[in-house]
Amino acid sequence: MLTKVAIVGRPNVGKSALFNRLIGRKKAIIHETPGTTRDRNDHEVSWRDKSFIVTDTAGWSTDISVFSKDMSRQLDIAVEKSDVVLFVVDGKTGVHPTDVQIAQQIRLKRKKTILVVNKIDTQAEEIKGYEFYELGFDDAVFVSANHGRSVHDLLDKIWENIKYDRKVKKPRETLEIILVGKPNVGKSSFINTAAKEERSIVHDIPGTTRDSLTVRIQSNGKEYILTDTAGLHRGSKTKDDMEYLSNLSTNYAIEDADVAVLIADASQGIGETEVKIARLLLEKKKPVIVTVNKWDLIEEKEEAAKYFTEQLRERIKFMNWADIIFISAKTGQRLDRIFQEAEIVFKQYSKELTKEELNEVIRDALARKPYTCKSRTLKIKEYAQVASKPPVFIFSANDTDLVHFSYERFLENCLRAEFGFHGTPIVLKFRNYY
Ligand code: GDP
Repeated sequence: MLTKVAIVGRPNVGKSALFNRLIGRKKAIIHETPGTTRDRNDHEVSWRDKSFIVTDTAGWSTDISVFSKDMSRQLDIAVEKSDVVLFVVDGKTGVHPTDVQIAQQIRLKRKKTILVVNKIDTQAEEIKGYEFYELGFDDAVFVSANHGRSVHDLLDKIWENIKYDRKVKKPRETLEIILVGKPNVGKSSFINTAAKEERSIVHDIPGTTRDSLTVRIQSNGKEYILTDTAGLHRGSKTKDDMEYLSNLSTNYAIEDADVAVLIADASQGIGETEVKIARLLLEKKKPVIVTVNKWDLIEEKEEAAKYFTEQLRERIKFMNWADIIFISAKTGQRLDRIFQEAEIVFKQYSKELTKEELNEVIRDALARKPYTCKSRTLKIKEYAQVASKPPVFIFSANDTDLVHFSYERFLENCLRAEFGFHGTPIVLKFRNYY
């Protein structure tokens, strides 16, 4: 039996958007569950190595001003039938009296509940969401269903509460690589040259979103799927950086990709757009290869390589684990390296440490750097790698407030020093033990 997750909340808070976002992540492994009632929508969702059923309570009345008997009855049914409840509220409007009534009713059922404060589009807006803590649920996530922001955090929280574990074995033979870079950096040229060099057939893969162009190519005897995030609205390419960025943040193709290639333009350097793209890729927790294209235009190559490397390391510090490759989409220089590198970073992204491997490094790290803050000592009792793609580590601490960013960074560095995790983000989470 798969864990059942119900999405509840008053109308217009974004339940359907959240439902679509949750099920839209991996199109291929989602199917309708037969025998479900008409007004409820059930889908199987896979996240990391587990699956669950998510139910949308569509068909609720649209009158938001009253908490009708009908609504209350439907809420009861939805909560009763579920193992985990996602209680969605609208972060833009604040606490609504109906939210309070729903909260009271959910609490009576004593089901695991995650409060989902939706419509939080930026980090700055999170503060607005704090007032929802008054509803009495400690486990809260601040998301934007429309933009996909922090939805992976919500999925992680659901993941932690999945009782029945069913391994999803997905054979992975074809890596999906997504090309990301502002207009005119050479994404289309990359695809064209790679396809020509490798003498393979370029074709659109049907069923992909209209915001991307996808081709299948061969390199070193292996097949790859390459996707260009050009923002192909009605057949014309986006010319504007801002428009490209806003299309990118909602582009499902990134969620589906295995590896992202961030492309910068050697004739322009590393600007604000590249930094924003890098931030977005980090948020999506994808492995990244950083490339500087149009390398054929550069004369003093050695000097330029040094300059670009320094500039990238300075401006995109938070991605210092990513490799930098200088390429020419025009001449095909080093394009094959990208595919080789994609294989390497994907392996790192999928890496699973044994308990012993992790123990050795973390035990040593904790002993080397005991951490005291406000005259209290941070104690970490348990830790484990709970997922891969990307690797996620959970640490149980005596008080997570004592975990300073620098300490988190220290632990991350210890893990990287020992195991590499080259080219991939890793996620460290802290929770309190009682
Ligand atoms: P996209 O918008 O990222 O898909 O960029 P395009 O592939 O359309 O390239 C934009 C322009 O840059 C075109 O005029 C290309 O010919 C040129 N271009 C792309 N890659 C290279 C390269 O490696 N070297 C040079 N010299 N020009 C390039």
